[in-house]
Amino acid sequence: MAKQIVTSGIRPTGQLHLGNFYGAMQNIQRLQDNYHAYFFIVDLHSLTTHPNAEHLRRHVIGVAKDYLAAGLDPNVSTLYAQSSIAEDICELHTYLSMVMPLGELLRCPTFKEKAKKHPDNVNYGLVGYPVLMAADVLIHKGTVVPVGEDQVVHLEMARTIVRRFNQLYGNVFPEPQPLLENAVRIPSLSGQGKMSKSDADDTYISMQEATDAIHSKVKKAFSDPERVYKNQPGHPTVKGCNVYHLHSFFTKEDQISSLAEQCRQAAIGCVDCKKHLAGSLTSIVEPFRERRNQITDDDVIEVLQAGRIKAKASSEKVIAEVRDAMGLRMF
Ligand code: ATP
Ligand code: MG
Repeated sequence: MAKQIVTSGIRPTGQLHLGNFYGAMQNIQRLQDNYHAYFFIVDLHSLTTHPNAEHLRRHVIGVAKDYLAAGLDPNVSTLYAQSSIAEDICELHTYLSMVMPLGELLRCPTFKEKAKKHPDNVNYGLVGYPVLMAADVLIHKGTVVPVGEDQVVHLEMARTIVRRFNQLYGNVFPEPQPLLENAVRIPSLSGQGKMSKSDADDTYISMQEATDAIHSKVKKAFSDPERVYKNQPGHPTVKGCNVYHLHSFFTKEDQISSLAEQCRQAAIGCVDCKKHLAGSLTSIVEPFRERRNQITDDDVIEVLQAGRIKAKASSEKVIAEVRDAMGLRMF
């Protein structure tokens, strides 16, 4: 039986952080073993909120390095920049936009969140973000999409688009299924929302973070607001303390229960508990950082060029089929 097609993208809006790693990259090796996999750097999506050419040039290369450091094997799966096959993706985006009701896009929680964050730049592209994401998946007839919790609603919209499109034009696209096994949502160090690479620098831990920076960022992380003095007992629960919440993802189970017990008895202060968290984070970031440092810009450029050719072979086939189904003739 042919392998299912998995598609997965990351915005080059900043340095990859622990949330991206846990939510999107940790399982790369397994994905590429089990599926026909397309990984891409969604530079067009970045333009909705980060219209900065210098920034974009730097981060496309940076995210490609992250993928390779996370274990992507370019001989097995395909890695490319979204804009390298923009002619097909943007064309498909236009067709899909015709079957997507505007009301649903305006009600989308991620749109509302981004519009609130960037009130001076609520652009047309931002509203259509889920449609462009659907085009990323459908341009390869993707059947499986690994999503973090924040992307679940976008995938639901892609499925709606497929149903409407197929109703009008025949059975062209499969309905992509979410791969939710890694649907974690790593919280921000600030305790407000999830960790995001386009938020303030001190709210996330980048996968390139130096060890001393990990310690100093974690030291300032938001913890239990009800524990003002060290001799007060703390509230080590996911809701009660952001530092505990972070421990729950990154620290070993038996160590967490011992830290929690000491916290409840006021036998350990927040400073020591945070030191422990910084240690857990360092043990994840350090080996990644070292692998990443071995990868050069030239290595990455070569991989992206080869990736574009493989991606294009698939996208042009799909776009030809779509045009035909829609009755669009090339004269
Ligand atoms: P931006 O602030 O630019 O939107 P981001 O940090 O949200 O950046 P994305 O590029 O939007 O990252 O998402 C890349 C992948 O990482 C997606 O699969 C998303 O679900 C996942 N992801 C992003 N943030 C987190 C998080 N805090 N926890 C778990 N997964 C996450
Ligand atoms: Mg995001």
